[in-house]
Amino acid sequence: MRMAILAAAAAMLVDVAIGAPRTTTTDAGRRARRDSAGEDPVERGTLRLHYVQKPIGYERYTIARDGDALNLSSEFDFTDRGGRVQLAATIRTRPDYTPIAFKARGKSYRFVNVDSEVRVEGSDAVVHADGADARVTLPAQFFTVDGYAPFAAQMLMLRYWKQHGQPRRLATVPGLPVNDVLIEPRGREAIRVGDTSVRLERYVVDGVVWGRETIWLDERGAIAAAITRAGGLGFEAVREDLEPALVAFAQRATRDRIGDLENLTKQMPLLKSGAYAIAGATIVDGTGRAPIADGVVVVRDGRIADVGPRAKVVIPPDAPTVDVSGKTVIPGLWDMHTHVTQIEWAPVYLAAGVTTVRDMGNEFEFVTTLRDAIESRRALGPRLLLAGLVDGGGPDAFGVVYAASAAEAKQVVAKYHDAGFQQMKIYSLVTPPIVEAICAEAHRLGMTVTGHVPNGMTIEQAAAAGMDQIAHLAIRGEAGSDEVTRTIAFLRDHKTVIDPTQSWNELLGHAAGTPIAAFQPGVAKIPPPLNRVFSNAGAAGVDAVTARSRLERGLRIVKALHDAGVPVVAGTDEGIPGHSVHREIELYVEAGFTPMEALQAATLVSARAMKRDAELGTIERGKRADLVVLNADPLESIRNIRTVRWTIHDGRVYDAQALWRSVRFQP
Ligand SMILES: [Zn+2]
Repeated sequence: MRMAILAAAAAMLVDVAIGAPRTTTTDAGRRARRDSAGEDPVERGTLRLHYVQKPIGYERYTIARDGDALNLSSEFDFTDRGGRVQLAATIRTRPDYTPIAFKARGKSYRFVNVDSEVRVEGSDAVVHADGADARVTLPAQFFTVDGYAPFAAQMLMLRYWKQHGQPRRLATVPGLPVNDVLIEPRGREAIRVGDTSVRLERYVVDGVVWGRETIWLDERGAIAAAITRAGGLGFEAVREDLEPALVAFAQRATRDRIGDLENLTKQMPLLKSGAYAIAGATIVDGTGRAPIADGVVVVRDGRIADVGPRAKVVIPPDAPTVDVSGKTVIPGLWDMHTHVTQIEWAPVYLAAGVTTVRDMGNEFEFVTTLRDAIESRRALGPRLLLAGLVDGGGPDAFGVVYAASAAEAKQVVAKYHDAGFQQMKIYSLVTPPIVEAICAEAHRLGMTVTGHVPNGMTIEQAAAAGMDQIAHLAIRGEAGSDEVTRTIAFLRDHKTVIDPTQSWNELLGHAAGTPIAAFQPGVAKIPPPLNRVFSNAGAAGVDAVTARSRLERGLRIVKALHDAGVPVVAGTDEGIPGHSVHREIELYVEAGFTPMEALQAATLVSARAMKRDAELGTIERGKRADLVVLNADPLESIRNIRTVRWTIHDGRVYDAQALWRSVRFQP
C-alpha cells in the first residue's frame, strides 16, 4: 500500500501568532526584483500539480518587467490517466497589478477548453470568451481570471487585492465566466520542511471556481500552495521545494473547509426540529403502495413516529402541526455515485432533496472529516456512505491508493474498513487476481465492493470475481440481443447492482450544438464558473440525432436490467450539482420505468443496495425522518421531482431556497 497520507509526518503547518495579520502594501514584484540577480525575468516559479494528491504535472511561470508594466507568462501542463492537459496564459499588468491584457488558451481539464482574451482600453475592455466577443465597461476595481488555472493568475489577483484595500468582494472583468470573487485572509503560519521554515499567509478565495479554494503566499507574495478542484475532484498545487508539505497543506485546507461549513450551518435557518407533524400533503411513501391523500407524518427526535391518512393518525399534543396541503411528500432521495470533494455539495444536496449519498472516491482525510462533522450535526449535509477508491499501480493510475499484490489489497481494505467505509471502489487498472483479493477481504470484513469494470475484464468476469455492484453502464451491444440478454441474466443471478449514471453520459455525450438547457433546466441556476466547466461538455462532431440514439441505447439496457430484476440505483457522478439527481430519475422514466419505480431507484432500491433499508428509503413508522416536501406530485409528472420546497434530514427541516442561495446557486 502506498498512500500520500504517510507523507504527513514529513511536514507541519504551525500557526504563527505574532500580532495581527500583516497587511502588506509592499510591491511584491519590486521586492522580488531586488531579491533576484537577473534583470529579466524578475521572478519565476514552479508549482508541482496534483490530482487527488497524485503528482501529475507542473506549472511554470515567469514575471518580467517591460517598462512600467509587468508581464506574467505561465505554462500549465499535466497528464491525467493518460490524457494531456495544457494551458498557456499571459497577463500584462500595471505596476499595481491592474490588468492591461489577459490571454489563456488550451485546456484546464480533460473536457474544459479555454480560449479567453481581454484587452483593456481605457475604461472599457474587449473580451473574447467561449467564442463570443464583447466590449464591456470595467468596474472601478477588477481582475482577470478564467478558472483555477493558471495558479500564477490567482497569485497576481491576490497581489492586486492587497494593493487595492483588500475589498471583501473583488469584481472580475464582465464577460469572463467567473463570479465576483470573495477573498478572506485567514492569518499567518509557518511551514516546516526539513530544516527550513517558510512563513506563509493563507487566503480563502471563493468564486474563481464554484466554491472555496485555499491559497498560500509567502512573504514575497509568491504562491506557495493552492488547494482547489478540477473536474469535480481535489486538485493541489505546491511549490517544488515545499512538495513534502502537500498533505499538510491539504489537511489545513480541510480544517478550513469544515469550519466554513459549520459556520454556514449556524447561519442556516432550521425551520423545525424535535417533535412536529406535517399534515395535509399527498404522501408517496416509496413502498410502492398507493399514495396517501391528506396524509400526516409525525416526526419525533429525527424519526418517523407515525404516518398515515389524517383520520388514522393521532397527532400528539406536544407536536405542532405544519400545514402542507397541496404538496407531495416523498422519501429523501439518494445519489449513489458522487464525489463530495467540497463542502458546497452539502447544502446543494439537501436543497435538491437528497439526504443520503454514496461517495465513490475522494481524498481520504477530507471525506472522513466531512462525514464525521455531518454525523455529529455540527455541519448540515446528506448522510455520507463511503466507497474507498483503489487502483492498480503504474503511471496512468488514478488517485494515491494502489493495490498491486494480494498483501497490498488486504492492507488497503483494512485501512478503509477501520475508517468506517462501507464499500470498496475498484478502479480501472486493478488486475483480475487483485480484484478477487480485494473482494474476498472486503466481504470478510462485512463490506461490499463496487467500481469500474477493470480494463481487460468483462462485466461478467467482474461480477464473478466478487464485485457486488458495477458503476456506469458497462454493457455493450443492444438490449434484446442474445449477448446482452445473457449478460443481464448473469447479473441477475449474481444479484449485481448497477449504477448506470445515464445523466452523466447525457451531459458529456450530448451533441455539442445542443444547449444543456434543452435537457437540463437546472443549468440556468448554477454559478458562472460551473457553467464554464460544462460549457464545452458535449461531443463535438456528433449531431443531435446520433447523440440521442446513443443515449437511448443505454436507456433500453437500463430498462432491460430493471425488467430482469437487476437492481438499478440512481447515481450522477456529480454532473450538474443536485440537478443531475433529478435528471437521472427523469431518464429512468424516459427508459420506461413508472414514476414510482424511478423514484424507488433513488430511494428504497438504493437503501437496499447499501443494506440500510431497515432505517432508510421509505416513509414508514420507525425509520429515520428523511423526507422531501415537493410543490407538485412526481407521480403525475416526474419533472415535478424538481419542485423541492423543504427537505427534512434526520427530522431537521431546511428551506430549499435558502440552501441553494448559500452556495451561490439560484433557487
Ligand atoms: Zn465517479
